[in-house]
Amino acid sequence: APVFHARGLAKTYTMGEVQVHALRNVDLDLYAGEFVVILGPSGSGKSTLLNILGGLDAPTAGTVEFRDHVLTDADDRALTQYRREHVGFVFQFYNLIPALTAFENVALVTALATEKHGKATADPAQVLRLVGLGERMDNFPAQLSGGEQQRVAIARAVAKRPDVLLCDEPTGALDVGTGKLVLQALKTANREFGTLTVVITHNVAVAAMADRVLKLRDGQIVSDEAVAAPVDPE
Ligand code: ADP
Ligand code: ADP
Repeated sequence: APVFHARGLAKTYTMGEVQVHALRNVDLDLYAGEFVVILGPSGSGKSTLLNILGGLDAPTAGTVEFRDHVLTDADDRALTQYRREHVGFVFQFYNLIPALTAFENVALVTALATEKHGKATADPAQVLRLVGLGERMDNFPAQLSGGEQQRVAIARAVAKRPDVLLCDEPTGALDVGTGKLVLQALKTANREFGTLTVVITHNVAVAAMADRVLKLRDGQIVSDEAVAAPVDPE
């Protein structure tokens, strides 16, 4: 069974006389363990789709099922719970806590998840090593490069052991070389934990890392291709 089962998704923004169709009639199934890349021009609906899957936004029409839950029937409280328990987010900006070290930024989230929600989490040090930051755990964010800070943010999201990791332009603020390290960290985490990972990106090198590439245009999925043999971007 898919992790996400979406049917007939539409999102329309109405501003006075003007209607913007951010998504139109999108059907999508996403499976456990997949590494999915979403490509498409600016304004094609990528963030809207990701935000709906993450319970940050609601569609105007259609349904999304996450496992046995119908997200599109959930109230705000249930959606907050859903995000906390099941979703990891990585955005363009890292939102690390400046007064805490890399280790502490990750450990804070795992401690909360365990104590408040009784969730099994990963070991912060193990996840930081996995994303290549074994030697930088005791550094504060200001002592780390942008790419390193983003890898801390990835470790933080992954350590919570979410069912899905949703990444919106995670390399948008980074140069191509640094971006590649960040994407490799995502890929390594995906392989290690088997977490369904969905990445919006403009970095074409990423498409080569994906199991599956979705292309959006004008709010519709215009192509959905499995990548037969994983290609090493090196
Ligand atoms: P992408 O992530 O592919 O750049 P988005 O999902 O952000 O695309 O946006 C899709 C369309 O919806 C765009 O035309 C955008 O301007 C519009 N849109 C997104 N959010 C809003 C909003 N809050 N109010 C009005 N229009 C919006
Ligand atoms: P929770 O209450 O479980 O923390 P939130 O509604 O705060 O859930 O959202 C989950 C995560 O996504 C938080 O880390 C929040 O800061 C982040 N977030 C939510 N919306 C946005 C956004 N539009 N841009 C950047 N970060 C966001």
